[in-house]
Amino acid sequence: MNRVKNFNAGPAALPLPALERARDELVDFASSGMSVMEHSHRGKEYEKVHDEAIALLRELLGVPDSHEVLFVQGGASQLFAQIPMNLVEKGRTAEYVVSGAWGEKAFSEAKVATAMLGGAARVSCSTGVGEGKEKSYTRVPRPAEVKVDPESAYVHVTSNETIHGVQYEVDPGRPFPAPGAVPLIADMSSDFLWRRFDPARFGLVYAGAQKNIGPSGVVVVIVSKELVARGRKDIPKIFQLRTPAENRSLYNTPPTFGIYMIRNVLAWLKGQGGLGAMEQRNRLKAQKLYAAIDQHASFYRSPVERESRSVMNVVFRLPSEQDEERFVAEAKKRGMVGLKGHRSVGGIRVSTYNAVEPAWVDELIAFMGEFARGA
Ligand code: PMP
Repeated sequence: MNRVKNFNAGPAALPLPALERARDELVDFASSGMSVMEHSHRGKEYEKVHDEAIALLRELLGVPDSHEVLFVQGGASQLFAQIPMNLVEKGRTAEYVVSGAWGEKAFSEAKVATAMLGGAARVSCSTGVGEGKEKSYTRVPRPAEVKVDPESAYVHVTSNETIHGVQYEVDPGRPFPAPGAVPLIADMSSDFLWRRFDPARFGLVYAGAQKNIGPSGVVVVIVSKELVARGRKDIPKIFQLRTPAENRSLYNTPPTFGIYMIRNVLAWLKGQGGLGAMEQRNRLKAQKLYAAIDQHASFYRSPVERESRSVMNVVFRLPSEQDEERFVAEAKKRGMVGLKGHRSVGGIRVSTYNAVEPAWVDELIAFMGEFARGA
């Protein structure tokens, strides 16, 4: 088998045992004579998988009874619009804390959605420096920088900015804003299921599946029942969060194969020792990578402030763009792929999600040393 060491940012590496299980079960799922993709989403074979995926999410994350676990389609990008559509009543304002490109996008959609429905959205804090194409983000804000109006509908943060590699609550880390009674909402697309966190602190968190959860096509939403109940009813039913909440995420046909794969990934995760074990393994991978960057500080440079350095997406620069191109090409020859930074910022990005084996990271670090010495 010729599997590469995949450092892609998303869609990203999936655990091999989860893929192998899918391969083994593909054409004849649970001795039913057909694949899981061919089953009705109302049939008992599929429903069992669906319920198991939700139960595993609840168990692994410790989701309290006060919160729903939902599967939604349309990508995290759809949630950028769907959240304000549900949660900003007429005359109210949603606040956005922007620490990178995804936060910008979430805010931009919220502006449109709220304007359509008689509310508003504003940026309560941005860590962006510069303008337009030159704009850069190198940190998440300090808590004192985020001033929240107690009347606001919610405060939205991006817990890990996948492109800029800045993240909340990493060691030593900056905490999430604490907006008191105002619900905190987090886009956790690239920050989900790699460590423990307390879902009860959040009114809503959401994550596109294609990094740590499974294939693209599904968004996992954890939302308080209170927010679901408060949601607007004057928007199309398909966009109301109460629709999946009231129908076990089976209102219409869900992406059944994607949810099946999520089940496989979650079962693997549980078998690995759950989030505690995964967190240790992930923190160590990132620590080693940043140590390698700092060790060759005249060659590799992390643009991100230490307290905000992401454990999931480690970004760094080389002395020139030509060096970066050579680095990516040389790494590829050794079976390490997905290292090119996002096209909007350039540089190198190493995504170190759960399925990225520590041994791959060790190999990459050895290559980084060699490359720095040889360049
Ligand atoms: N938010 C974050 C933090 C992301 O990394 C991404 C995708 N990389 C998105 C939102 C958008 O996700 P989707 O493509 O599923 O809409």
